[in-house]
Amino acid sequence: MSHNAELIAVGTELLLGNIANTDAQMLSQGLSDLGINVYYHTVVGDNPERLKAAVELAKTRADIIITTGGLGPTCDDLTKNVLAQCFGKKLVFHQESARRIEAYFQRLHAKRPMTENNYQQAMLPEGCTVLANDWGTAPGVAFEADGVHVIMLPGPPRECRAMFTHRAIPYLKALSDGVIVSRTLKLFGIGESSMEEQLRDEMNAMTNPTLAPYAKEGECELRITAKGATEAEAHALISPVEAQLRAKFGRLIYGADVPSLEAAVLALLKEKGLTLGTAESCTGGLIAKRMTDLPGASAAFKGGVVSYTNEIKHNVLGVPRELLDQYGAVSEPVARAMAQGARRLLGCDLAAAATGVAGPDPDDRNNPVGLVYLALAAPEGVWVRKVQIGMDRERVRHVSASHALHMAWRYLTGLEMK
Ligand code: ATP
Repeated sequence: MSHNAELIAVGTELLLGNIANTDAQMLSQGLSDLGINVYYHTVVGDNPERLKAAVELAKTRADIIITTGGLGPTCDDLTKNVLAQCFGKKLVFHQESARRIEAYFQRLHAKRPMTENNYQQAMLPEGCTVLANDWGTAPGVAFEADGVHVIMLPGPPRECRAMFTHRAIPYLKALSDGVIVSRTLKLFGIGESSMEEQLRDEMNAMTNPTLAPYAKEGECELRITAKGATEAEAHALISPVEAQLRAKFGRLIYGADVPSLEAAVLALLKEKGLTLGTAESCTGGLIAKRMTDLPGASAAFKGGVVSYTNEIKHNVLGVPRELLDQYGAVSEPVARAMAQGARRLLGCDLAAAATGVAGPDPDDRNNPVGLVYLALAAPEGVWVRKVQIGMDRERVRHVSASHALHMAWRYLTGLEMK
């Protein structure tokens, strides 16, 4: 049976916009990995009546309710009290939790005695499964009542994530009578709507495995999720769907279960014993940052030049003045010369370059915002890609860096360069 969950975040700060509901984002991603549908996110302030109303509504439309926040001593245990009430449960003192809270206090605040309200945190719904909290004081709670599974997690994101990963996931997995496995294909060079259009009929007809598309900053993901009696059975269900998708989208797919384009590029560079360097104008070092965010990047990433002005393009990278004067910095010949210059200067096998108009205004030659030239220099030659990417400065920079990385990926995969 497939489950559907509702997340209820408790906290007035969330409603005031003081903090973002990042717990919900993390939980939704995790639940989707488990094959659990999330149909509703609710946010409610620290108010017992409104929380009660939210829980009563959630009971009518979800079979898993997960709450975050309102478990600490300062909130008078709002969440536990209300949830216990809604499901007709008494709160009882839980000795083991009290002992853990005392131990936590001794570790953290050796000189400060534990106050009485901290013991309140050990009052838990009768008959519940206690989710021991090794990352804070408030224990989490899970129970089943009225055909609904209820899980209560602490609000602080670090605690919430650890409690979800180490406590809630094992609990949720035990609800399932099978194993859930998913595989994520990463695509570059296709829009989400076009991808969805090509898959809509298949996706709607599928039940096991299921197929879910996601759009992410200029990239797309397709997640195949299957449920089987064993892991091998679930994998066997995924394989033919993956093969069909690969046949349909071909080399738009740059990887399966890889974290990012840069990770795919780094793996290929290492495999082939090649090095990469960068010459960046409009991306301001972002390509280099994305590469060096990866542990172990030094094995293949040599370094980069942020050549933001024509002076640096000429003096450091050796871009000829005539090219800059004749074509302007945002041009194919300059992108080409930047990549060649970086390859020479940095002594790397491959060099990626980016020059374009990140915005918000057009450049002095009236080139439009979002026009970017990317180049890749290799021993066999230099290739240039011209793109036009939206209007938002951050997006232009991010997607430009992705294009540069994608050119390196195509080269390293032995594909025709474009
Ligand atoms: P504590 O024991 O720390 O009081 P708690 O479970 O009672 O934990 P809250 O008091 O509701 O949680 O929230 C504690 C802090 O956690 C908030 O100030 C906020 O910074 C953060 N937080 C709470 N809920 C969320 C959420 N949904 N997303 C992101 N951060 C949150």
